[in-house]
Amino acid sequence: MSSRGAWDVAVVGASGAGLFAAWHLARAGQKVAVFERDDPWRPARRTLIITPSLKELLPFSVDGALLHETSVMGVASRNATAEIRFQEPDLIIERGAFLALLAREAEAVGAHLYFGHRLAELRAVDRDTVTLVFQTSSDRSPHTVQARAVIGADGVISQVARLAGLRRPQAVTILQAEVSLPVGWNPDRVQVWFDSDDSRFFYWLIPESSTRGVVGLVSDLNQNIHGLLTRFLNRLGVTPDAYQGARVAMYSPRLQPWGYVGNVPVYLVGDAAGQVKVTTVGGTVTGLWGGALAAQALLRGIPYQEALAPLKRELDLHWLLRRMLDRLGNPGYDALIRALTPKVCRFLSTYTRDEMAGRFWRLALTTPALWQIAPHLIRRPRGFVSRRQASFSSPPEIS
Ligand SMILES: Cc1cc2nc3c(=O)[nH]c(=O)nc-3n(C[C@H](O)[C@H](O)[C@H](O)COP(=O)(O)OP(=O)(O)OC[C@H]3O[C@@H](n4cnc5c(N)ncnc54)[C@H](O)[C@@H]3O)c2cc1C
Repeated sequence: MSSRGAWDVAVVGASGAGLFAAWHLARAGQKVAVFERDDPWRPARRTLIITPSLKELLPFSVDGALLHETSVMGVASRNATAEIRFQEPDLIIERGAFLALLAREAEAVGAHLYFGHRLAELRAVDRDTVTLVFQTSSDRSPHTVQARAVIGADGVISQVARLAGLRRPQAVTILQAEVSLPVGWNPDRVQVWFDSDDSRFFYWLIPESSTRGVVGLVSDLNQNIHGLLTRFLNRLGVTPDAYQGARVAMYSPRLQPWGYVGNVPVYLVGDAAGQVKVTTVGGTVTGLWGGALAAQALLRGIPYQEALAPLKRELDLHWLLRRMLDRLGNPGYDALIRALTPKVCRFLSTYTRDEMAGRFWRLALTTPALWQIAPHLIRRPRGFVSRRQASFSSPPEIS
């Protein structure tokens, strides 16, 4: 067994959240290493739509990963449509390029990155130190390292969470197809479609250039997401050239993304911690935010749960809204979209989906149009399986 040394902080998983935590820690002078399972490390291509809140969170430019910007979002249900024009455009980003950029920035401030290191064991050495044991791709014998704190940034099926005895989040599936935009499509326009017979979430089309885009769907794990998406692509008249898909964590206020092995803090960030807005199932900004807060907690010597308070407020709001959305059938979605009055659209165009806590309830209380949705909230249980969904037999096979 060979040793890769002793670290102030060991980060497991070169995810966005992990790399950003490492950047904060290394910049503050901590001895920090990121251990990533994959070697070669080539994160799969993924087209992400990110709110401009990303620019406030990151102290460096994301231009190297930016594909496109969109400033209009159309939303449609079976019998209603609405349009939101953002004051500041959403950013369309390529995840592989974005992670490579974060890795370069983390290394530039002194973080060490090790690839081909899969975490296998985590155990206390003494009160203030843990040993992490990694299976390596290059070597038959495992590598061990010592650390005084551990950050688990290893995604929704987090091994750090399992080894530290922490609860892992539930997951849903996202699948999107890379397509040529339909003829005449405005490349400045993202479109979202609700159809509760197909999914309690939604379909989307996101342009990533003037000619190309992705069409996708979020669904529960027991649904045939591939069958649903194929039918939807046919309806739109577009042909898939490639697919992007994976499981994504669902936030719950009951998750506790921190624990201890001996006295050593183990903090989960990103999807490992369920730091995903469950209205849109977007986890990029909230995951990076979680990474920054975990680093701040370690640097300032404050409890992670205390540092997490502003992120928790935001995620709790999205969780509550999701509980409501899960009760809407198609008539409920019609009512919701009709309630998007100019005042509500102004709110949605001014505040991003990552900065709504503290503002949303005032809007809800002072906008009678939104109260029209109330009768629809007593209707459907969440996560139901419709007859159409049940007729698809096989579950999706996506890593
Ligand atoms: C198709 C698709 C589209 C999406 N679109 C959007 C979007 O538009 N906007 C948005 O905000 N979000 C979007 N998301 C969600 C977002 O991508 C995820 O929330 C985010 O990528 C999760 O990242 P993470 O940083 O927590 O973990 P991950 O990206 O899952 O990274 C975990 C890392 O840990 C490594 N690892 C795992 N186990 C170990 C181990 N034992 N030892 C060492 N390393 C390990 C893995 O190899 C991986 O590199 C999308 C997701 C998908 C699948």
